[in-house]
Amino acid sequence: MPDHPLPQLEWFEAPTSPEQGQGLRFSCTQCGNCCSGPPGFVLVDDDEAATLATHLGLSIQAFIEHYTHTLPEGRSLTERAGPRGYDCIFLDRTTTPGKAVCGIYNHRPKQCRTWPFWTSILHTPQSWARASATCPGINKGPLTPAAEIKRQRAIVQM
Ligand code: SF4
Repeated sequence: MPDHPLPQLEWFEAPTSPEQGQGLRFSCTQCGNCCSGPPGFVLVDDDEAATLATHLGLSIQAFIEHYTHTLPEGRSLTERAGPRGYDCIFLDRTTTPGKAVCGIYNHRPKQCRTWPFWTSILHTPQSWARASATCPGINKGPLTPAAEIKRQRAIVQM
């Protein structure tokens, strides 16, 4: 749980149409945009590092040495420079043609699991719209209820 109260961000609880109801739509298209671009960070806490190390058959120390680096924001998954920017080290652009797939999807960190329901993105309708410019999954697919959005945005402070 966050160590300070979450700001009230209730605009997405108001139905924008009778069809939409309460909540927001999101369905990942596996474009990979959120896992690439300018240099960034994907924070990995100790539990997540242990889970990923086990999944990859590595010691925790080996996982941390090979797949993470330390940034001002904290310990992050490393990135790999490529033609589309800095890809997450686990982003797989080759296995599924036309898709950019997370190679650790079932074990991905909380930061990835909760995208795009971060406070910084949910802050205003405008910030949600800005995120939709690079994430084609935003405003698509099934409705995520407001209560579930609130639950997810409380998991990470982003
Ligand atoms: S930018 Fe959006 S649609 Fe593309 S991979 Fe990320 S979450 Fe999925």
